[in-house]
Amino acid sequence: MYKPSLAVIYLGDQSGLPQASLDFRTNGRYRNICPFAEIVSTPKFRFKLECGIHEVKPLACRISPLGRFKNLKSGENFYFIHKPAEDCCCINSNKRIRILDYIRDNALGEYFENRDKASELYPLLFNTPSEFKYIAGFMMFNFDVMYLSQRLNPNLARPKSFDILVREIRKLILEYKQFYLRTNGKIE
Ligand code: SF4
Repeated sequence: MYKPSLAVIYLGDQSGLPQASLDFRTNGRYRNICPFAEIVSTPKFRFKLECGIHEVKPLACRISPLGRFKNLKSGENFYFIHKPAEDCCCINSNKRIRILDYIRDNALGEYFENRDKASELYPLLFNTPSEFKYIAGFMMFNFDVMYLSQRLNPNLARPKSFDILVREIRKLILEYKQFYLRTNGKIE
């Protein structure tokens, strides 16, 4: 799906590496809600928020309330729990579930694999200035600009294979790194 300006891209406080977050905004009676949230009316609730992209929602939403942190150097995974929102229907649940079962039942394996492939782009940014990292972040998270700059429709031009997409972004970052080196001298 291509929709401009639905994410904010920034450098993480601790990692200094590019991150992207959904750009929460005001929508009617709601403040700070996801741009993909849809306001619906049900027999039980006059107004209720639902995810408008449930089938393709981002990994962070898909695994909630679980969170995952991966150590890029050791490859180790660490899991943690986000505090559920006050109105979360699971907040009073006493159900216990093993993390491995949660990952299997929610078919998260492929999403983790793709996230890890995208994380392999990060070493390209190690020991580079913040300015370079920030622009590379746009290449990583706002990659449709690659197609728009060639006057292509991103929905048609974007590869269906995630592997190929990551390869295209890698190539673009490397080309930009060469350009940056030529115009700014040494990068490290
Ligand atoms: S679950 Fe859907 S509506 Fe909620 S934050 Fe994620 S993308 Fe947005």
